[in-house]
Amino acid sequence: MVFTEVGKPLLSKSYPLPELSEGEVLVRNMCATICGSDLHTITGKRQEKTPTILGHEIVGRIVKLPEGNEISDHFGNKLKIGDKITWSVMAFCGRCENCKKGIPQKCDFLKKYGHERVDSQRVFSGGFAEYTHLWKGTAIFKLSEDVAVTEQVWLNCAFATTMAAISRTNGLTNKKILVVGAGALGVLAIPVSREQGSDSVTVVDPNKDRRELAKSFGADYIFSPEEFFAQESGDYDVILEMSGNYNALIDGINRLSIGGVFVFVGSVFPMRDIGINPEQVVRRLHTFTGIHNYTPNDLAQAVLFLEKYCTKYPFDLISSPKSFGLDKCNEAFQFALETNACRVRIEM
Ligand SMILES: [Zn+2]
Ligand SMILES: [Zn+2]
Repeated sequence: MVFTEVGKPLLSKSYPLPELSEGEVLVRNMCATICGSDLHTITGKRQEKTPTILGHEIVGRIVKLPEGNEISDHFGNKLKIGDKITWSVMAFCGRCENCKKGIPQKCDFLKKYGHERVDSQRVFSGGFAEYTHLWKGTAIFKLSEDVAVTEQVWLNCAFATTMAAISRTNGLTNKKILVVGAGALGVLAIPVSREQGSDSVTVVDPNKDRRELAKSFGADYIFSPEEFFAQESGDYDVILEMSGNYNALIDGINRLSIGGVFVFVGSVFPMRDIGINPEQVVRRLHTFTGIHNYTPNDLAQAVLFLEKYCTKYPFDLISSPKSFGLDKCNEAFQFALETNACRVRIEM
């Protein structure tokens, strides 16, 4: 299903399957979810190279491997035809300066699934298609057959990014956690906080359904922004800012405890500066940090966490109960925009 232009429906097109080069894998997609960035692209909030196949939260089965070329996943499992896998949203070179510095998401030769132009070199690079053609330099993860695809599909964007955000803190044990924004990323931060032994998890979101979702994942305190802003400044050791909302940012900074860590995650749009007082940063031992995308190790943490706790938390609630076939992709986008569901599934 090819995206060509804002305001036009995705077009159903057919292309021949590719020949594989060394290090590449062909995957038959099983399920893909509509991420917030896909919605931003189709509504014109962000610019995308076109034509393109959107969708980067994907799980599929390997249908083809290059001949005479052994490929292993991130954990060292030898991959074979039929394996259920997910993979990093990006392919990276491993040799450029940013890769060598440990930030492969900023590789000089970065390629991102669901964000590349369909051309003669590469067609199948997005999730809203029958196949994905994996680039060499993609971190692949063989997934457990014991966990449902519908609970694994958002691992490689939402959950991996949440893990990356948490990796910027000095751990959550005994800390008061504030999660601003209860989309998939924010909600997935709740079980991780609980399992790391946090003191409490407070969640703020304007949407009632999302507040309910946060509750079912075990958040201790849940507020609408109005209720929350009306409270006296609280004291939070870790603030995960997933909303990108200007007022929430200003408010959050005033609620950081001594030794607190503030993680910027949601600010992915141009925005006004916010004031930070250097003396306060020094005397109150504050840390301000940002995260964009993630490294393969963050996705590994997400995969392992889900396998360990899949029955303890209601991960099935992250995506909406209603799913769509690939041919109903346009309806799925419509549904996602109308319902404000965290994730809407396309099942192939
Ligand atoms: Zn995403
Ligand atoms: Zn690189």
